[in-house]
Amino acid sequence: MTAELPPDAAPSATDPVALLRLLQTVAVAANEADTVEEALRTCLDAVCALTGWPVGHAYLRQGDADDLAPAGVWHLDGGGRFEPFRAATERTPVPLGQGLVGRVAGSGEPAWAEDVRADGTFLRAAAAADVGLRAGFAFPIRVAREAVGVLEFYADRAVPPEPALLDVMAQIGTQVGRVVERTRAQEAVRRSEEKFAGIVAVSADAVVSVDEEQRIVLFNQGAEQIFGWTADEIIGQRLETLLPQRFRAGHERQVRGFGEGPVTARRMGERGQVHGLRKNGEVFPADASISKLDLGGTRLYTAVVRDVTERRRAEEALARQAEELGRSNAELEQFAYVASHDLQEPLRMVASYTQLLARRYRGRLDDDADEFIGYAVDGVTRMQALINDLLAYSRVGRREITVEPVDLEALLVRVLVHLGPAIEEAGGTVTHDALPTVQGDAGQLGQLLQNLVGNAVKFHGDDPPRAHVGAERGDGEWRLRVADNGIGIDPEFQDRIWVIFQRLHSRAEHPGTGIGLAICKKIVERHGGRIWLDSAPGRGSTFHFTLPDRKPA
Ligand code: ADP
Repeated sequence: MTAELPPDAAPSATDPVALLRLLQTVAVAANEADTVEEALRTCLDAVCALTGWPVGHAYLRQGDADDLAPAGVWHLDGGGRFEPFRAATERTPVPLGQGLVGRVAGSGEPAWAEDVRADGTFLRAAAAADVGLRAGFAFPIRVAREAVGVLEFYADRAVPPEPALLDVMAQIGTQVGRVVERTRAQEAVRRSEEKFAGIVAVSADAVVSVDEEQRIVLFNQGAEQIFGWTADEIIGQRLETLLPQRFRAGHERQVRGFGEGPVTARRMGERGQVHGLRKNGEVFPADASISKLDLGGTRLYTAVVRDVTERRRAEEALARQAEELGRSNAELEQFAYVASHDLQEPLRMVASYTQLLARRYRGRLDDDADEFIGYAVDGVTRMQALINDLLAYSRVGRREITVEPVDLEALLVRVLVHLGPAIEEAGGTVTHDALPTVQGDAGQLGQLLQNLVGNAVKFHGDDPPRAHVGAERGDGEWRLRVADNGIGIDPEFQDRIWVIFQRLHSRAEHPGTGIGLAICKKIVERHGGRIWLDSAPGRGSTFHFTLPDRKPA
């Protein structure tokens, strides 16, 4: 927009009416200008028209820099005569506080030079002299207290300062400052909108906006990928094009309900899986959220949709695997149970008859026979122990656990009575902290303590075994431990010991079946806890386990 000084304004720089008109012209330009450049140009033209000075120019501060730079906006009369001055201006930097413009930028106050050639600090004095410029004045463009730019004007004669003009210029500087401020704010908004629009455009999620009639008004690249429609094809169509037939009515109702409700954004599909429909007719599961926005009198709904086909597939595969694993575990347990249970009966028969043979015929056949019968009795006894342990192991998994308050201290005392002969034989001592009452299955927890304390006593070195049962409260759980001064376990083998039948020693060194710790692990896990150990050869072992400090589900 251009603003001519009204024809009735006399071009006198000191006429109060003319000054007022100038102020009005600039105020209107400040309100209406779309760009800073436009406002600057109007202002330069109006001031030059009023004063009759041939040269006007604007500097602006660039971004966050302190320095001023020519804004490229000029008023130049004289048909090219002042071009060399323009060129000199555009290559001369403006040091803050120096020269006419630098002083204005530094102080924030208008300044006047009656003749720039006499002003020793004027940096473009030679260029001004060459084209015959003499008087100059400059004033700041202000935003709040800050000078964000400077306007400068030059005459081709010496002119003494005109205070009235300078006063008005100070006000003009503030008016132009408003334009700078407003356009900078608009620029910031535009940049953030562009950035946002950029994010939406490239988002891998589908972003689909519809108007009140549910007509699609925005369809980003993600939506094109997921739904298979191009934005050009789909914009203007109704949203139901993207929904499987059976969800259309319900969806319309839901969006209407959401539109009327107070919430401005929510996740969709709280009442069931959301589905989308691709162009090729394929229905896919989706995660979606919806938001509403009132924009210039119309309401827009925006849905962000993520195709979760792959995730669903992976979840289903995982669930299938877990189910298969559960089934094969159950089958294995069933097998172990049946096998060990059914083996017990014939084994009992073999055991009783070999024992009978041993009792009746020891010393009555020859020495070899005695030895063979001894082996048979030994083997049968071992097999019975194995089968009993296997049965115990499979029972831990099969039985429902009965959860009740279990006083671990009382339980330990009973376990120690049971282990009494073994402890005594090894010359061992077992001590304990005050132990808590926990929620669990008394039978299983008793077995757990018995196996751990039994091992602590059994796997001793040269020193008589010392074992300690400790307890401390953790975060929502009890942390228990059974520590011993025994032979310890090499970290290399520590994973193995939890596996059924895995043993690290020969039967001659330490008798056992290798099932105890597998049972312990199962019991702790069935109670919702964890079990692990801390041990090194020759340094003893500490078996830690946790039990939730609440009723297990
Ligand atoms: P078992 O005691 O019948 O051999 P477990 O399952 O209880 O079977 O233990 C497996 C193996 O772990 C043992 O054979 C032994 O090598 C090792 N082990 C268990 N407890 C201890 C312990 N307190 N100190 C050293 N080694 C241990």
